Amino acid sequence: MPIAHVALPVAAETTFDYWCPESLALARGSVVRVRLGTRNLVGVVTAVADTPRIADVKLAPIADVLDVPRVADDVLELAAFIAAYYEEAPGLAYALGVPPLTGARSAARAKAPVDLDAPQVAHELNAAQSAAVAAIVQSHGQFATFLVNGVTGSGKTEIYLGAADRAFADGKQVLMLVPEINLTPQLVARIRAARPGLRVATLHSALAAGERRAAWMAAASGEAQLVLGTRLAVFAPLPQLGLIVVDEEHDASYKQQDNVRYHARDAAIWRAHRRGVPIVLGSATPSLESWHAANEGRYRRIDIPSRADPRAQLPHVTFSSHRAARGTDGIGEALRAAIALRLARREQSLVFVNRRGFAPSLICAACKWDAQCTRCSARLTTHRVPPSLRCHHCGHVEALPTACPSCGNVDLVPLGLGTQRLERALVAAFPGARIARVDRDSTHGKHAFATVRDQMEAQEIDILVGTQMLAKGHDFPRLTLVGILGADNALYSADFRATERLAALMLQVAGRAGRAGLPGEVIVQTDFADHPAFVALAAHDYATLAESLLEERKAAQLPPFTHAAVLAAEAHQRSDVDAFLAAGHVSALALAADQVDVFSPVSALLARRAGFERGQLVVQSERRAALQRFLAAWRAELLAMPGRRVRWSLDVDPAGFG
Ligand code: ADP
Ligand code: ZN
Ligand code: ZN
Repeated sequence: MPIAHVALPVAAETTFDYWCPESLALARGSVVRVRLGTRNLVGVVTAVADTPRIADVKLAPIADVLDVPRVADDVLELAAFIAAYYEEAPGLAYALGVPPLTGARSAARAKAPVDLDAPQVAHELNAAQSAAVAAIVQSHGQFATFLVNGVTGSGKTEIYLGAADRAFADGKQVLMLVPEINLTPQLVARIRAARPGLRVATLHSALAAGERRAAWMAAASGEAQLVLGTRLAVFAPLPQLGLIVVDEEHDASYKQQDNVRYHARDAAIWRAHRRGVPIVLGSATPSLESWHAANEGRYRRIDIPSRADPRAQLPHVTFSSHRAARGTDGIGEALRAAIALRLARREQSLVFVNRRGFAPSLICAACKWDAQCTRCSARLTTHRVPPSLRCHHCGHVEALPTACPSCGNVDLVPLGLGTQRLERALVAAFPGARIARVDRDSTHGKHAFATVRDQMEAQEIDILVGTQMLAKGHDFPRLTLVGILGADNALYSADFRATERLAALMLQVAGRAGRAGLPGEVIVQTDFADHPAFVALAAHDYATLAESLLEERKAAQLPPFTHAAVLAAEAHQRSDVDAFLAAGHVSALALAADQVDVFSPVSALLARRAGFERGQLVVQSERRAALQRFLAAWRAELLAMPGRRVRWSLDVDPAGFG
């Protein structure tokens, strides 16, 4: 009697054996329904065998085979790779490859994307773009990783499409990953305008289940020529795959931070290798990992140093004092004058500060009390709309106090700058201007962000205020001024990636200015204008910064020169965290060969979150294979440890040590 090994979406270390009733047609990749204990679960068959793996146990039958396409071999292998590499439960990894199940099978196609008011025309590729496309196309049918390092506005989208055309002409499919759901409608509209008739399917978590399933089916049947989506689209079925593109490859949101902690860019590279197809990573600010790989010759870097539109220039960058702007709710003289000029010329301005809320703290001027979250080791953020104190780590909300809870003083001071404060200051400074704010508080609902984008395009907004949601991908021809505020905060960060992130964010934000014929200007309010990140911004020179940051990483033995993993633990009692990490430390020291460094357990940067005490332990090695061997053995010991009061996870290639 045939036995199926079924991967189930539970945190178990193995797949499960079930017997296959003869009436069911089963094969590797079949999506099945089974009973596990009292639960009905959907899983995927990873193998069919003749005999059970454990003798003398009574196996349950497969209840049902679902009427969806079988999960393809390369997707199953990708899931197995992810489980092994990221040290995750296999069933959870396989679950990522199971098609979306709910929703009617014949659900409507993904809705037609919004039409742009200024329809885009297809461009004649310029020399740099043509050369990039030619280089990519030359790898035709073979695995190779290209890193398109092109300044903002260099026309990377046209390069992706130019390379994709070759795949389409050969009847192949192209997978394009983007970091943000918000970017997909604009990109899809652009692509449809440039390639009328192209069959595009989009895949992201904000789609209704029926839409997602329809897109998945279109990918699985080969009907969709271009599959465009966020992180999870890397698991899409692509029988005719010919090319993968990862746009904004440096973006941190490609790394999933919970459940299965995989990196979608790296998973995409693995899949391209497995399928023997080229992959194109694109960015104006490549990750240091990718930059280093290009230096080593593992990736081929293609530099595009100027903007594609011959009328567009990279913006002119100037600095003004942050300290001097404090008295005016953050808006210094230079920025104020520049905005006024834009208003007079009927051009648009964007003012960026990477903090939502009104102010990142509330303090008592008399006794120095400050508002702290009771559940986290963090300050509460003052909000004005609606008035409240909010914790940005755990979501805790409380009323804004009218007097100091400690000394009764009524003079409570919101300290620092957030988007709401900036919006208020702009309204006061420019009474006639039309001002809109974009941050996570302002854009509830799917369509709010799209509305602001449409208003920007229709020139119904003069000044846009917001967080990093504004940084990426948007193309507004009359946006000629960008103000960057609060950037100095990142310079105090303990995160080893802080400078890389700051530079990337600033270059992206600055890149919004002057993308069409009108010249762009960027004003950065900082007290450290000679810091390398700001120097790079002013000179439009990411390469020099990347090389110098890599030197620092090398000297400090940090990624990408080492490979790291973090064991993170949390519990209600600090003593439980300490005991667990101490035991983990002993086990790690015993297992680590001389190629693996084991650091001492420490408290997390955010020592308490949502009532949980948090700690961590970093391990690293110059050799990836040595770290992998170590992690597999270590994880087995960690799983066997007592400590049910402790929640723990291993994060391989972590975004940070925090
Ligand atoms: P990136 O993604 O590199 O920031 P985009 O692909 O968004 O750049 O292109 C920036 C702008 O340049 C877009 O408005 C696009 O229409 C325009 N563009 C792209 N290629 C060309 C070209 N060959 N000639 C003129 N304009 C171009
Ligand atoms: Zn007080
Ligand atoms: Zn909190």
